[in-house]
Amino acid sequence: MLIILGYDGLEYDFVEKNNFPNLKQQSFGKTDLSDFKEPRTIVIWSSFMVGRNLEADILKQGAKMWGTKIKPENTFLKNFKNHYTIDVPGFSYVLKQHETERDLLKGFFDKKNTIKEFDKCAFDHHKFVKEQFFKELKTNKDLVFGYFNLADVVGHLSFGLELKMKLIYQELNDIAKKVQIEHPDATILIISDHGMQAIGQFGDHSRHGFWSLNKDIALNNPKPTDFANLIAHNFQAN
Ligand SMILES: [Zn+2]
Repeated sequence: MLIILGYDGLEYDFVEKNNFPNLKQQSFGKTDLSDFKEPRTIVIWSSFMVGRNLEADILKQGAKMWGTKIKPENTFLKNFKNHYTIDVPGFSYVLKQHETERDLLKGFFDKKNTIKEFDKCAFDHHKFVKEQFFKELKTNKDLVFGYFNLADVVGHLSFGLELKMKLIYQELNDIAKKVQIEHPDATILIISDHGMQAIGQFGDHSRHGFWSLNKDIALNNPKPTDFANLIAHNFQAN
């Protein structure tokens, strides 16, 4: 069984500095985003799913890019018989939720809503995804891919607030810990699209991502597009 924890915006430097053991797992490192002009969420996750850089194709769609829907047969999912994904950008993305998040982000800068209201929207969705994800892990799947965007969404308005972000990372660490304890025989991949860097109290995307695996593996600064092949050929055992 393969379990993928897709942690949007998980910052390598923050994980290292604060030493979250269940995020780091046995092997971990940065991903190389140099093939991408900008570290865009929808572009990187979609490229991760298909194993090829889709930046140009996705940007062509303009504002509609968030609605990108890639067919499973064009992704690494074709190598799995019984898979489940929740909220993966470009694939099973819950578009309405994320449109609301973007409206609330803009609303904060337009002084229409507070950070608290913005955070609540993100936390409520996180709780929903987490419940579904753990429910699916109890069924007989060969791949479960949960996408959690708390580090990115909350990070945009709060990445400079270290204590607050530590609580967010602790929550993501605890999800990983529960997965590791409950599924000791599974291959567990933790992956982010990009990290975050503080801009005062706020945050913006950094130019590297994060990966970790609960196995000994030497991956030298892999690209997001390298994983589809690894998933298909190396991560399926047990
Ligand atoms: Zn992102």
